[in-house]
Amino acid sequence: DPVVEAIEDADGTTWAARLHPQAQTHKYGRGVVGIAAGSQLYAGAAHLCVAGAQAGPVGMLRFVGSEALSERVVDRAPEVVVGRGRVQAWVVGPGAGDDVGGRLADAWDDGVPVVVDAGALEHLPATVPCPALLTPHAGELAAMLDVERDDVEAAPLEHARRAAERWQATVLLKGRRTLVVGPDGPARVNVSGTPWLATAGAGDVLAGLAGSLLAAGLEPLDAGSLAAFWHGRAAEAANPGGPIVASDVAAALPRTIARFL
Ligand code: AMP
Ligand code: MG
Repeated sequence: DPVVEAIEDADGTTWAARLHPQAQTHKYGRGVVGIAAGSQLYAGAAHLCVAGAQAGPVGMLRFVGSEALSERVVDRAPEVVVGRGRVQAWVVGPGAGDDVGGRLADAWDDGVPVVVDAGALEHLPATVPCPALLTPHAGELAAMLDVERDDVEAAPLEHARRAAERWQATVLLKGRRTLVVGPDGPARVNVSGTPWLATAGAGDVLAGLAGSLLAAGLEPLDAGSLAAFWHGRAAEAANPGGPIVASDVAAALPRTIARFL
């Protein structure tokens, strides 16, 4: 079995150096990420996913969703551009509604890397047509593999590997020790975070941040690793030793990331 590498500060710093904007850059050069998240029922997932992506290295976000939801997103984040257009990566699924299968199909059509989260994980094709970062928690991975949640929790690495091989994609299995497993074997374990991160919406922030890193040109394994690492550090910093909500994590991300750039 290949060694599972720890995701630690030093690694974060190495990757981060590549993400620092060049003096001559422009907004498109920094990458554009597309977000298909949220629904009537889970409108907040759209805000949290956007906030996670905005903390990342991209120069622009595009949001796709219903007219009503898009309006709410722009009310809170006036920088967001609404509608499809050229992007370097997609995030599909956090808090998504009935239209998620179609949104995922549209994302594959663009031929760019895709973060597939939450409800979108139920719409995976037999093999994914583009580089992908699948971001299930244990329950979602169990459903993907048609096993019990307890099975995944008893052997998380084995199940993450099985999914990575089956879909030929990178799998980020969320939990106390988040694992990131590439389709060809390399595996990493995240060392940052706190049990206070087990809170509604935390995964939506993570998916947005990971998409932003993909759009900036990182490979899925590195994008997932770095997103998990920064997300955990932001959770620690948001309220050391005490309770947090997902919005606190998103709010802490920009300053947390600045420590590594
Ligand atoms: P989600 O279930 O999609 O909201 O994602 C939950 C987020 O919280 C992921 O980033 C998990 O890694 C994190 N998380 C969940 N449970 C724990 C735990 N016990 N300790 C640390 N982090 C956790
Ligand atoms: Mg989730």
